Amino acid sequence: ATPMSVMVGVGKAAEAGVLIRNGEALQTASKITAMILDKTGTITEGAPTVTDIIIADKSYTKKYILMVAASIESGSEHPLAQAIVDSAIEQKIVPETISDFQAIAGHGVEAQFNDHKLLFGNQKLMLKNGVVLFDFVAKAQKLANEAKTPMYLAIDNKLAAIIAVSDPIKKDSVEAIKRLQANGIRVVMLTGDNRATANAVAKKVGITEVFAEVLPEEKSNKVAELQAQGEIVGMTGDGINDAPALALANVGFAIGTGTDVAIESADITLMRGSLHGLADAIAVSKATLRNIK
Ligand code: ADP
Ligand code: MG
Repeated sequence: ATPMSVMVGVGKAAEAGVLIRNGEALQTASKITAMILDKTGTITEGAPTVTDIIIADKSYTKKYILMVAASIESGSEHPLAQAIVDSAIEQKIVPETISDFQAIAGHGVEAQFNDHKLLFGNQKLMLKNGVVLFDFVAKAQKLANEAKTPMYLAIDNKLAAIIAVSDPIKKDSVEAIKRLQANGIRVVMLTGDNRATANAVAKKVGITEVFAEVLPEEKSNKVAELQAQGEIVGMTGDGINDAPALALANVGFAIGTGTDVAIESADITLMRGSLHGLADAIAVSKATLRNIK
């Protein structure tokens, strides 16, 4: 490719809000055969809100549960934490001080609250700590089938409640994914979220292949797995968790509103946050290569 044609291509892409950091990525984009899309913040808005609070231990009120959950999540930077804290603020619930806070990647959070041990996160976190879930697994499953993310709260290793959040799908994700598939690209969803939630979201956006319950440190393995199958892999993500996968992919795409780490690890930034930027980048890439020949 001549430097001139690449420059023109980079300029064209920029007009569409697609920032290309290196000329090589522009040339590789047209060769992508598989696109991995992170779920939260990439396909969805990444701004979940609380939809359900189900009490498991009748000695607690919903208000108390939300106060406890907001207290533990005050220490977390996860989008799920933001949803909990926002919901508490909305209801004028004031979080209390916690200690010994610990974020457990891909699982949830843990802390001490007065003299009580708090656990808040997914089923894996509860099982790891021997928390008995009774028939609340089925209740969580029902919420997950509605594309919501259920989280369990345990106080002193006893199940206290389930809190579910819902993250709206970006309004143009369905169309943008269709454009990729129309280009013959294999589109795969990748998420740390539970399988039922992931499948429900995938179904809504027309994706049939899902990697769910993937731990943060395993996300890049999924890129390698597809590369080993002979795919030229594009990876799109917004989170710190996505950075190694973005770096390993043949072309990494970061969501412009995402974390700095993701943007720095990617080759291309979608400034508008819309997944249409992917098909736009591929179209510019194809045009650039045509001009060279
Ligand atoms: P992703 O960013 O793809 O959703 P994560 O690995 O960050 O994946 O999280 C995976 C799962 O771990 C979440 O769906 C949630 O169930 C649990 N989890 C992670 N962080 C938190 C948190 N701060 N509070 C509650 N649950 C959490
Ligand atoms: Mg994300």
